[in-house]
Amino acid sequence: MLSVALMLALAACDADVADLAPRGPIIVIAIDTLRADHLGLYGYERDTSPRLDALGAEGVVFDHAFATASWTLPSMTSLLTGTWPREHGAGYARSRGGRRRFSRLREEVPTLAQLLKETGYATGAVANVGFMSPRFGFGRGFDTYDWVSSTDEESRRAAESVDRALAWIDANDDDPFFFMLHLFDPHRHFDAPPPFRGKFTEVYRDRYGDTLATLASRVEAEQQSDLDFHIAAYDEEIAYTDDQVGRFIDGLRERGIWDEALVVLTADHGESLHDHGERGHGGTLYNELIRVPLMVWGAGSAGERERAPVSLVDFVPTALQWAGADEPSGLPGVSWLGPLAGTEPFSERLIAAEIEVNDADVQAVIRWPYKLIAGPDVGGLMLFDLQRDFAEVMDLVALGEPTAQQTATELQLLLRNARRGLRGEEVELDPAEVEELRALGYIQ
Ligand SMILES: [Zn+2]
Repeated sequence: MLSVALMLALAACDADVADLAPRGPIIVIAIDTLRADHLGLYGYERDTSPRLDALGAEGVVFDHAFATASWTLPSMTSLLTGTWPREHGAGYARSRGGRRRFSRLREEVPTLAQLLKETGYATGAVANVGFMSPRFGFGRGFDTYDWVSSTDEESRRAAESVDRALAWIDANDDDPFFFMLHLFDPHRHFDAPPPFRGKFTEVYRDRYGDTLATLASRVEAEQQSDLDFHIAAYDEEIAYTDDQVGRFIDGLRERGIWDEALVVLTADHGESLHDHGERGHGGTLYNELIRVPLMVWGAGSAGERERAPVSLVDFVPTALQWAGADEPSGLPGVSWLGPLAGTEPFSERLIAAEIEVNDADVQAVIRWPYKLIAGPDVGGLMLFDLQRDFAEVMDLVALGEPTAQQTATELQLLLRNARRGLRGEEVELDPAEVEELRALGYIQ
C-alpha cells in the first residue's frame, strides 16, 4: 500500500506534468553556423548581438549546449528527430561513379513535426540551404516546408525568411502550431547587407580599399591580418542575423504569441576560425564547432543561467512534453522542462557528436568535465578537461596525465554502448561492461 506521503507526492507530480504541458505554440529558431562565443551574452567583446543579449534576460541561457555534429545535415536532423547521427542515418557521404552522395533520414525515424502533427499541431518551416532539402527528409511532417537552396553565391536573406515566417504564423495561429525558422546568413560567404556591412570590417579599409565590399565574402588568405578581417566579416553576419531575430521576436510579441509559446534558439554548429588551425566546419568536433548557443523562453526563470551540459537531442523530448504528446521509446535526450521548472535536477546524460571524415567515424563524447574525441584522423583518442580547458589545447592523453587513458576508455565504452542501443539492436552487456558502467554510476 502506498503511504499517504507518497500518494501526495505522486499527486503533486501529476500536477507538475500537467503544468508542463500547456500545449501552446512551439517555435525553434536555428541559426546556421553561429558560434556561441561570438555573442555578447556568451562574453564576446564585439557588439554582435544587442537584441539577443537583451532577450537573454527574459529567458534561460545555457552555457554548455552541444550539437550532435559539426555540419548542417546530421546536426539539424538530430535537432528535429532527437536522435544521434548514426541512428537517424543522415549525413554520411559516399562517392560513387565520381559523384558524391549523402545519406538521408531513415524512413522509420519519426520527425518532431510528424509527432506534433499527430497531436493536432499545425506545422510550418522556413529553411535555407541545400542540406536542408526535403530530399534529405526534412520536410516530413510539415504542412508547409518553405525551403530554398542557398548557394555560396546567393541565399535568401534572414529578412525575407522572417517575413515569410510571420506570414505563415498569421495564417496558422488558430491552432497550436510548431514552427521552425532556419536562418543561413552567418554561413560563408560573409557578406552582410547594409548597414551591417562595414560595421566591423571598416577598420580594414586602409588595407583593402575599394575591394572591401566584395572582399568580405571572398577572403581566404592564411595570414593573421586577413583572418582578423575574415572574423570581422563573420561577425557582421551575426549582427545582421541578431537584428532580424529581434524583429521576428518583436513580431511574436505583437501577435501575443511570445508570452504563450515555448521558443528555443540555437545553432546547428559553430565555425572554425583557425582555433585548431582550420577554417570552416564539418571536419572536426572541437568546441568551436559543436558548442552552440541555446536560449529557451517560456520555461524556467527569466534571466536564469544554466551551466548543466545538455545536447540538442533534448529538444524533441522537451517539445513533446510541452505539447503533452507521447514520446517514442528510445530517445536519448531528456526534456528540459522539469529541471527548468525546478521539479528535478538536470540528470547526467550522454552528450555525443559524430561525423564522418574520409570515410572514417570521428566521435566526441562528454561526461562533464571530460570530453573525448576519438577517430583515426586525431591519432586515436584525445581527452580534454572542459572545466580547465574549454578551448581544448591540452590533450590529457598526449600529455600523459595519469588517469587520462582510463577516463578516455570509459568514455569510449559509454559511447559504444549508447550507439549500439540507439541503432535499434538488442544489446546484451557482458559482465565486464556491466561492472564498468556500474562503477561509472550509469546502472544501479
Ligand atoms: Zn549548418
